[in-house]
Parts: sequence; structure tokens; C-alpha cells
Amino acid sequence: MHYSYSAMNTHDHNRCCGGRAWCVKDICGIVCAVLTWLLILFAEFVVMRLILMPSPHTVFSVINTFIFQALAFLAFASHLRTMLSDPGAVPRGNATKEMIEQMGYRDGEMFYKCPKCCSIKPDRAHHCSVCQRCIRKMDHHCPWVNNCVGENNQKFFVLFTFYIAAISLHALFLVLKQFAECVENDWHTCSPYSPPATIFLLLFLTFEALMFAIFTIIMLATQLTAILNDQTGIEQLKKEEARWAKKSRLKSIQSVFGRFSLAWFSPFTDPSYRTKFNSHFYSV
Ligand SMILES: [Zn+2]
Ligand SMILES: [Zn+2]
Repeated sequence: MHYSYSAMNTHDHNRCCGGRAWCVKDICGIVCAVLTWLLILFAEFVVMRLILMPSPHTVFSVINTFIFQALAFLAFASHLRTMLSDPGAVPRGNATKEMIEQMGYRDGEMFYKCPKCCSIKPDRAHHCSVCQRCIRKMDHHCPWVNNCVGENNQKFFVLFTFYIAAISLHALFLVLKQFAECVENDWHTCSPYSPPATIFLLLFLTFEALMFAIFTIIMLATQLTAILNDQTGIEQLKKEEARWAKKSRLKSIQSVFGRFSLAWFSPFTDPSYRTKFNSHFYSV
């Protein structure tokens, strides 16, 4: 019975685009993810229409447009990669007799089976009730990216928090500079919109950038500490004793980001840390 459950549901569960992309069908997560895009779009609108396009300083405007657009593109790409990547889901219902034998467990040998998704639970995997799957090295389920952060997408999530923190600090710098200029000169000439509309838009962007900067810097620091200590958010929360052999800091960073290169900062390259052994082990 377990076998047919696995064969029928594993390949299309949490998947879209004909099974090619991972996507969790959770309304709250989808709303939060769309809200994230709308907030980036709002910042785009205020920064470009109110601050950079009307600016009389051409060089300043061109350089900052380039920086802002590059950060917005990288943040958006990291968000999509985090959301649409399989975080490391263990196949549902793989705790079958055949599979257990295939994985080299002998009679009477101990292994963990998840009662919710009937899978053989690898060490450090946890069950996520939103994804309805066991996720390898699950850190937490993040509604803002509508996905779990786990072994396979942690790099993209760290990049997402990094680029959102960077774009928020950049927007904060631009918006405060604009405030100073408008106060010093004239509210009627410093923006294409009326003074009340300008004040409202600038204040809202200040609030948004400040909130996101604080939130993502804390998240980024938490993620990096967790990676350096080779301990996931859940393990920290549960104060679990490390049953696994803890990796050195360098090895731990490499297991998430791959060997050091510029690719560390690219949301388009997959870190090649998954061994053939692992992918064979967990694919049905
Ligand atoms: Zn499970
Ligand atoms: Zn999840």
C-alpha cells in the first residue's frame, strides 16, 4: 500500500510546471510571496520616479540606478530560486520493505520512520506540516518565500536576505538624502508629485526600508551563525545534542555555498555539494 502511495504522489506533490518546479500550494505563503514582490515594486516606483529620474545630478542618478536595479534583480532572482527549489524533500511513503532493504538496513536495525508522510527519516531531517514532507536539514518554513529552508535551497535563502538587506540600506540612503534635499530646497520642485503625496511616499519607503533592513540583517546573521556552527534553526530551538559529526567552519560553509568563487553571490548557480550517493539514496 505504501509503495503505490509513493509512486503516485511523490512526483507531483508540491510541484507545478509539469513537475519541473517545486511549489508549495499554501495560500498564506503565496500571499506573503506576492506581497514581497509588491513591496519591491513599490520601492522601485518611489526610488525611480521620485528620487533618481528627477535628480539634476546625472552621474549620481546613473550610478545609483545601476546599483539599485542590480540589487532588485538579484533579490528577486534569489527569491524565485528559494521558492521554486526543492528544499530537500524526502520521498513520501518510501518506508517500504523494498526500499529499506535497498538502503542497506538489516533486520532489527534502527531507523526513524515519519508517521506523517511514511518516509524513512534521514538524520537531521524534520517533518514540515506546511510542505507535508520531511525536509533534509530543515531550518524553518518561511512564508515570505513560501517554502522550507533546507539543505538544497539554503544558499538561495541566504542570498535573498543578503540582497534585501543591501537594497533596503541603499533605499534608506536615497530616501534620507531626498528628504534632506526637499527640506533644504522646495517641496514643490523636488518631486513630480504634490508635497503631501511626496511626503507620504517617502515616509512609507523609509518605514519599509527600515523594517526590512532590520528584519533581514537579523535573519542573515542568524543563518550565517547556524551555518558556521553546523546546526539548523530547529536543532538550535530544540537544543538538540549533536548526533552528527560536526563539520569544520570551512567545510560547513562549503556544504551550503560550494567552493569559494564569485558563484557564491549568484542565485543562478547551484552549489555542487550533493554527492551522487545522496541523490541516489533519496530519489525514488
Ligand atoms: Zn514526514
Ligand atoms: Zn515547509
